[in-house]
Amino acid sequence: MKYFILFGPPGAGKGTQAAMMVDKYNFRHVSTGDLLRREIKAGSPLGIQAKELIDRGLLVPDNIVEDMIRLEIEQHPDVAGFLLDGFPRTTSQAEDLDRMLGARGEEVTTVISIVIDDEMVKERIRHRAMIENRQDDMDDATIANRIATYHQKTEPVINYYKKAGKYNEIYGVGAIDSIFERICELVDKF
Ligand code: AMP
Repeated sequence: MKYFILFGPPGAGKGTQAAMMVDKYNFRHVSTGDLLRREIKAGSPLGIQAKELIDRGLLVPDNIVEDMIRLEIEQHPDVAGFLLDGFPRTTSQAEDLDRMLGARGEEVTTVISIVIDDEMVKERIRHRAMIENRQDDMDDATIANRIATYHQKTEPVINYYKKAGKYNEIYGVGAIDSIFERICELVDKF
């Protein structure tokens, strides 16, 4: 089984690119953000707990997202691969993922990181807030907090995968199709 990790700050276009990759490669897109929003919508106890943190731009506890990931992997043995989006977001999640896959005799295939600068992140998030009516995208303080959280907690994860020789950057500005082409060039190597 292939495990691609899709990386990038909020608003980098991960969702758009992931949907195109699912179409082309028969991957299963696993977005922890989407899974959490589904729980919130359903009003489950987990959703209620998660909402409070998400609305403040904070991360939810590791065990919650890891259980979600484990379930997704176990329940979809017939896909060509998994496209993990929004996970792992911290070094400890990356280590736990290695353990989880290691127990199955598997490993992360590679990381695809879509890079854009912070000003572009802000612009895109504000734009998305209007379209998707996302509470965590609505105000500047929350956006700034999410960008700060991204840099503080997630960039060490980049170093983690760099050390493992599994880190690749794709420049995320330009036409959606040409960004996708660059991603495909990389995926096709595996
Ligand atoms: P996203 O849609 O990936 O930007 O995720 C939205 C929010 O869900 C984040 O700001 C976090 O509060 C939470 N979240 C998503 N993925 C994770 C994760 N791997 N670990 C902790 N919190 C997460």
